[in-house]
Amino acid sequence: MNLHNKTLHWPGAPPITRFAPSPTGGLHLGHAFSAILSHDTARALGGRFLLRLEDIDGGRCRPEFVTGILEDLRWLGLSWDGPVLRQSERMALYRKHLDHLTDEGLLYPCFCTRKDIQEEIARSPSAPQGPDGPLYPGTCRTLTQKDRATRLATSPPHCLRLDMAKAVKRAGPLTWTCLDDDGKETDIQARPETFGDVVLARKDCPTSYHLAVTIDDASQGITLVVRGEDLREATHVHRLLQALLHLPTPSYRHHRLLVNDSGKRLAKRDRATTLASLRESGETPQGIRRRIGPPLT
Ligand code: GLU
Repeated sequence: MNLHNKTLHWPGAPPITRFAPSPTGGLHLGHAFSAILSHDTARALGGRFLLRLEDIDGGRCRPEFVTGILEDLRWLGLSWDGPVLRQSERMALYRKHLDHLTDEGLLYPCFCTRKDIQEEIARSPSAPQGPDGPLYPGTCRTLTQKDRATRLATSPPHCLRLDMAKAVKRAGPLTWTCLDDDGKETDIQARPETFGDVVLARKDCPTSYHLAVTIDDASQGITLVVRGEDLREATHVHRLLQALLHLPTPSYRHHRLLVNDSGKRLAKRDRATTLASLRESGETPQGIRRRIGPPLT
């Protein structure tokens, strides 16, 4: 294939790629870049391009954003294969996978509030940092079985965390494949431990980003995940979950992030770069492709 004069050599069967936005706002130029790259890669290599709505956050996702996303993608000229997968309709499946991890002794309930965690971290001056900030200090991991049962008896709000040390030990050494712009594959050693005890089920819903994305990439048969550089580190956790849940491992391509005039990453709140406002101001899909420039880093 040839994207902006560069050639991507894809070694295997035609890839199955996806675009997986969260309907918590309008799509901006950065999303267009990601969707176009994923779509064009699949189309150029005779593969399939799938769409998934990552709408587990009931408080922030809105039907009008869903409508807007579908409209934006169609306007860009992108077509997807098969039905749109909606994570909000798949909670029973996520729960099943959580039960498996619980049976394996890899999850524990965490009753801490955000404030509890902040206070605990403040008390330990050398609190380890992960890619997403300070690591969870492990307060609820060390509760005795009896204390845990006593607390659960009153059904307090709690999330489920992965016992990372145990999980990493159980899975053993893991690697994932990263595809660069020339289609060169590099095997990366997975380092999920840098995230600490990640949340796999939130207090308000029986899944989390990490769990749902891993299960759904497998359900949809994705073989090449194309997404932003900001999610590169999360791949280490996804690789671990694939191993623990006996799911296949796709290849990964993490693309550069678009920035605004002051060098800051585009965000949903930047009205000026939303596709809807660009469209209203007379921009064309071809113009959007020109604006995002070469998709390759
Ligand atoms: N839902 C995520 C987002 O909108 C993307 C997840 C992914 O591509 O893995 O940022």
